[in-house]
Amino acid sequence: MNCDEIKMMISDYIDNELQKEKEGYLFTHLAACGECREEFKEQNRIQNEVRINQKEVSEEFEKRVFNSIGEKRKTFAQRWITKPTPVYVNYVLGLVIIVITFFSFIQLNSLRYDLNVFRQRYEASIRQMNYQASQMYLMMNSMPAVEIKQY
Ligand SMILES: [Zn+2]
Repeated sequence: MNCDEIKMMISDYIDNELQKEKEGYLFTHLAACGECREEFKEQNRIQNEVRINQKEVSEEFEKRVFNSIGEKRKTFAQRWITKPTPVYVNYVLGLVIIVITFFSFIQLNSLRYDLNVFRQRYEASIRQMNYQASQMYLMMNSMPAVEIKQY
């Protein structure tokens, strides 16, 4: 077997296309022939580079596919947001507004009640002060004139 045939076998071997029974011949020759060993190394190196490039290409491709999926997801989310609201959402919102209005009405009533209590207390104390003032006035007026002059 000459070196040209071996080089063909090397390329078949690298491509995983060499029949198993021929591998024995190939490796026997490679063990004996330095030139073919170099050829084997060179083809192996080239094959590895091709594989790495293919990997990079496929990674790049995957990245692009994922990006486009992300874009699709985004547009899906955007579509969902701009989608007209279903009827039940309006009902729920209406119910929530009614509940909030009801509770704020109760709150307002209790606030008004507190305000009334405060106003009543204030008016009561004003009345009391007026009463005390009038009592004081009556008392002072009922005092003898001489004693008032001392003040
Ligand atoms: Zn050789």
